Amino acid sequence: MRRAIVTAIPGTTRDVIAQEAEWRGRRFSLVDTGGMFGASEDPLHALVLERGQRAVADADVMVLVVDGRDGLVPGDREIARIARAANRPLLLAINKMDDKRARAGALDFYQLGIEPVFEISAEHGEGVGDLLDGILDVLPPGPSPPKADKDDEYAAEPAASAAPVDRAQPPDEVGIAIVGRPNAGKSSLVNRLLREERMIVSETPGTTRDSVDTVLTWHKRQFRIVDTAGIRRPGRVAQSGQVESVSVLLARRSIESADIVVLVVDAAAGATDQDAAIAGEADRQGKGVIIVANKWDLMKGQGSDFVKLFDEQLRRQLKFLDYAPILHVSAATGERAPKLLEEIDRVAASRRSRVKTHQLNTLVEKIAATHPPQSPGRRHVRILYAAQTSVAPPTFVFFTNVATSFHFSYERYLVNQLREAFGFLGTPIRIQVRSRRRKAAEHGQKP
Ligand code: GDP
Repeated sequence: MRRAIVTAIPGTTRDVIAQEAEWRGRRFSLVDTGGMFGASEDPLHALVLERGQRAVADADVMVLVVDGRDGLVPGDREIARIARAANRPLLLAINKMDDKRARAGALDFYQLGIEPVFEISAEHGEGVGDLLDGILDVLPPGPSPPKADKDDEYAAEPAASAAPVDRAQPPDEVGIAIVGRPNAGKSSLVNRLLREERMIVSETPGTTRDSVDTVLTWHKRQFRIVDTAGIRRPGRVAQSGQVESVSVLLARRSIESADIVVLVVDAAAGATDQDAAIAGEADRQGKGVIIVANKWDLMKGQGSDFVKLFDEQLRRQLKFLDYAPILHVSAATGERAPKLLEEIDRVAASRRSRVKTHQLNTLVEKIAATHPPQSPGRRHVRILYAAQTSVAPPTFVFFTNVATSFHFSYERYLVNQLREAFGFLGTPIRIQVRSRRRKAAEHGQKP
């Protein structure tokens, strides 16, 4: 059954209410969890919380509804954190946008890092269609739910039928996919990492069927190498005629379950189209990337310029990855292998880092003054402000005076500016453009 869930702020309604809904021919249940989050003196709170948690466990999509008129309050951050931990597609709806105060403070909610954001007025019906479209966008395909015989089906459900909650990845754990062509040295590299000093190693079931992940605990950090068994399987596929596509396919699967992709390239052989394909996949999936030029022990004694020339060539071959650090490693001798763990740690942090809104807008003002976007029509396109709407990968919304999209090269310019100002080592950056004109005009009409 497909369910969307609406999570209200504390203290509005207390019961969990489910209601059938239909939008553009799709039917789904909307479940209001009431004031399930936050502290409460209410003796019924524990009960509400329990029902709410069951509703969350059952939901396919969550919508966090915040009160725009109150502005961002400390409790919102806590609720956002809990909602994110549920590991469902999550949407943010800022309600009461018909109110002037709400419009003034709406931007603050982008700090919650939930995306997409919908500015709505439930009372006036504004923006609600967009929100429903947004729900359909992330609702998994499936049959329409059977009609509920009661509105309060959750309240009636016995506790024993609660759906199990998915195994969630601990928040500090970093998932690592070690990918690359057969014989690049992936398996040797994994073995080398497992032998690191002060490393505690354990095996756990992986996310894909029959796969096994290895969890490394190192200096209080936890790394999960995805599908270790797959990496270690000796290059059997390497002998077959379909080498190329098979390893790209396998890589794609591991990349999906990872935060950081370590692309292992045989330094002596250089990068190929297949490496470029894997690189493109990592970039598309918004993962952090580190390039390991392995077998560096074979590259010694080539003169002082060699490293520079080598890296330049590698970057030309892997053109998606201009942001990825290159490490020269030898899995055979262990040279610079510990450095890889440090680099993974650094890239994982930068992929999750968040720029303060005022710092971002200082940069935006400078850009708007010195290098504004080109205007396709007669109207001048102006960037009004920007907000970082999410992390992993860092995503920025640029608000403009007219509905537009930026030219590819301008987007690239913005990304470079963001990197120059804030770093973002090893992680792709996403840019979105939105117009503020329509909203301003709409609201401007009202008394
Ligand atoms: P995989 O197919 O990517 O897992 O590659 P393997 O780890 O099985 O390594 C393929 C071959 O390269 C093996 O013969 C390894 O001994 C060799 N190899 C791996 N790493 C290095 C290295 O750093 N230096 C040298 N010289 N050989 C290496």
